[in-house]
Amino acid sequence: MEILTNFSLKEYNSFKINAIAENFVSVNSIDELVEVLKLKEYPSKYILSGGSNILITKNIKGLVIHINIKGIHEESKKNNITEIVAFAGENWHSLVQWCLKRDLGGIENLSLIPGSVGAAPIQNIGAYGTELKDVIISCDAINRETGKIKTFNNKDCQFEYRTSIFKKNANYIVISIKLKLTNKKHNLNLSYKGIQDKLDESNIKIPTIQDISSAVIKIRNEKLPDPDKIGNSGSFFKNPIVSIDKIEELKANFNNVPFYSFHKNKYKIPAAWLIEKAGFKGKTFGDYGVHKDQALVLVNYKSAKGSDILNLSISIQKAVKLIFDIELEAEVSII
Ligand SMILES: Cc1cc2nc3c(=O)[nH]c(=O)nc-3n(C[C@H](O)[C@H](O)[C@H](O)COP(=O)(O)OP(=O)(O)OC[C@H]3O[C@@H](n4cnc5c(N)ncnc54)[C@H](O)[C@@H]3O)c2cc1C
Repeated sequence: MEILTNFSLKEYNSFKINAIAENFVSVNSIDELVEVLKLKEYPSKYILSGGSNILITKNIKGLVIHINIKGIHEESKKNNITEIVAFAGENWHSLVQWCLKRDLGGIENLSLIPGSVGAAPIQNIGAYGTELKDVIISCDAINRETGKIKTFNNKDCQFEYRTSIFKKNANYIVISIKLKLTNKKHNLNLSYKGIQDKLDESNIKIPTIQDISSAVIKIRNEKLPDPDKIGNSGSFFKNPIVSIDKIEELKANFNNVPFYSFHKNKYKIPAAWLIEKAGFKGKTFGDYGVHKDQALVLVNYKSAKGSDILNLSISIQKAVKLIFDIELEAEVSII
């Protein structure tokens, strides 16, 4: 385990921001993680995994700890359920592929989400009708202060739309997750219409979990910019949740307001629609801007600074607040 100094994080964040970590270490085991957490000479420690849900706006002082703890195994198999454990440093999509190879169902709709297994619970990753909370039994996490491992069951994680106890309180570092997957009869989730459309295009009448994964991969490749080509962190903002009164107010002032039911008289409005209506879709400002097809995705075309993108996000928030009286909340973590 080597602690590197003045380390460029450009290849460690999907926005491709060239920020510098004063000190950087990659940990390959739980023991190594516990050891670096004890280092008193670095009072400030930042946990970094795949860097696909962060915007780095300045050089990082202290120690950046890159989680690279690997391993996936089957824990138990009973009737139609197989429980698996995956360690934090595994790539999320590699885990999905590992499961598909063994015909384990439950996370096929979450195919191709960038990033690591350990970060998946942080914002309760979700896509195309499925969220991590639907399949996770528990996660093990280390307390930064004491170095002790605690098991959080599904309820303890306080999962909600793009958040969890870990996002609200950064005191715990996730080291592994345990998932409950189907091994024979799969409960396919076709609630997102785009998936059914892709299956129809390929004339698939009785889909498998592998077919669902392929459909999701096709949709994502068509819709989302590839961070290896254009720096981005996926959806920059969360979709705001509003009351029915707010929906009625918007309908009275704007045509074709898109919204969908969320939970108990609450509705989600696509943030992309608000950003487009505020005139930001496709706008570029030199090296950075808002993607031309996905208004929710802010992009670094070449060598923008994190602070440029942060300022753009603040301008968008102000415009949306002024026009719609709605607060847009960032989904990415801003450092
Ligand atoms: C093109 C693109 C598409 C995306 N699509 C989706 C999508 O469909 N759905 C979705 O939910 N997300 C999506 N995202 C966001 C991102 O992929 C997820 O949030 C992912 O889980 C982030 O993983 P990461 O390893 O890159 O985390 P990082 O960006 O490294 O970290 C994110 C946050 O979690 C903390 N963290 C990281 N690892 C740990 C750990 N082990 N323990 C404690 N804290 C930790 C970090 O300190 C940071 O605050 C997308 C991103 C991109 C670039």
